[in-house]
Amino acid sequence: MSILVVGSVALDSVHTPFGSAERVVGGSANFFAAAASLFPRSGVRVVGVVGDDYPMDRLAFLSDRGVDLSGIERAAGESFFWAGRYHYDLNARDTLETRLGVFADFQPRIPEAFRTSEQVFLGNIHPDLQLDVLDQVDDPGLVVCDTMNFWIEGHRASLERLLPRVDVLMVNDSEARQLANEPHLLQAARWIQARGPRWVVIKKGEHGAVLYDEASIFFVPGFPLESIFDPTGAGDSFAGGFLGYLASVGTQDPGELRRAMVYGSATGSFAVEDFSVDRFRSLTPLEIADRVEDFRQMTFFEHDVSMIHG
Ligand code: AMP
Repeated sequence: MSILVVGSVALDSVHTPFGSAERVVGGSANFFAAAASLFPRSGVRVVGVVGDDYPMDRLAFLSDRGVDLSGIERAAGESFFWAGRYHYDLNARDTLETRLGVFADFQPRIPEAFRTSEQVFLGNIHPDLQLDVLDQVDDPGLVVCDTMNFWIEGHRASLERLLPRVDVLMVNDSEARQLANEPHLLQAARWIQARGPRWVVIKKGEHGAVLYDEASIFFVPGFPLESIFDPTGAGDSFAGGFLGYLASVGTQDPGELRRAMVYGSATGSFAVEDFSVDRFRSLTPLEIADRVEDFRQMTFFEHDVSMIHG
């Protein structure tokens, strides 16, 4: 299989109650690729842009795992820079600074060799650019799309043009409510499904994630971690595990989608155990499999209806 990811390739400065990291590698495409590349046969290809200040050597571990970084353009100027601060409630963060740099003029150009990618992850960029990416690829089997409040507020019409071409919309709970203008999450998911995506994944930070399909709902909890250092990138790492797993198994039947939710939760939980993409440098597929087994045990229960029903 092959997965095309288009998104930000960033430098982040992050402050959390547990420490700080200055100008470390981040961005949606990096977190996605770091997680997805841990799955055999995922065939990750990245399209993005960096400035001439970008430490590409910090991404060598991705190339070593087979990620194709040849679609990352290098332009004259400063790389996209984002700075954020988290408080004790790690679900809330303040953006301290966003400098778009070369990302301001980013026009994704999908290399010829990437156009036949079987799966596409549209990281959080302008919905017109996300549409432009879909115009450049040949009928992928699965399109997964992220977005954020900024695009929902300012570019709703573009987003509504994009939705019919998306198979899985992956958003957090506040984004789902805002997009659907609907406080009730199940109704919000149904509103989104009525506009195109067959599946909606709603992420709730440390409280887990929910998959809505036409007929059923599947819930996976957040993993109870001993320590959290930096929540940045958890959502993109979730998406990386979700698609990496589906690429590895090669099908999208309902059981596999549920398992993909658990693999996504596992990779998302590892992302927050260190700053930047650093936890993924040493993470092994075996550690992911162990965490998936922990999820299974945490959520398994037997039920004897006769206990309450006579
Ligand atoms: P997440 O924690 O999943 O929301 O992803 C955080 C990553 O998104 C960080 O590494 C940032 O570099 C990147 N980021 C922050 N703001 C933007 C933006 N406006 N466009 C694209 N990427 C962004």
